Amino acid sequence: MSIKTDSVAAADRDSRLRQALGHLRRELTLLGKVFVAREPIMRGSVYELHTKCGKPSCRCAEGAELHSCMVISWTARGRKRLRSIPKEQQAELVALTQRYRRFRKARARLLEVHAKMLAIIDKLEAARRKEP
Ligand SMILES: [Zn+2]
Repeated sequence: MSIKTDSVAAADRDSRLRQALGHLRRELTLLGKVFVAREPIMRGSVYELHTKCGKPSCRCAEGAELHSCMVISWTARGRKRLRSIPKEQQAELVALTQRYRRFRKARARLLEVHAKMLAIIDKLEAARRKEP
């Protein structure tokens, strides 16, 4: 391969890197919106719990017809906690915990995006660097 085609290939690669960097910067802007939002968020997950009440004469004792209630579970100081939820709070708690998961997912993605950006920046640096 000639020097000329090599440098054309390198310019193509650098232009793809710059383009990728631009995409990541735009993604950072979108992620930033998740972090600066003001709606409250809540750790935990909301789900339906099926349990036995413990009374030997109850219909649930056989295990076929369990009691069910909505609960929120979360971890505090390393311990799993559980609280039952009144029907009227259910929708709000689902929204709160969904927002929390979205926040945490965005935070994890932020780390990935930063790592990708640094890798690209290092390649662009190497491509531009002249030795003294
Ligand atoms: Zn029961």
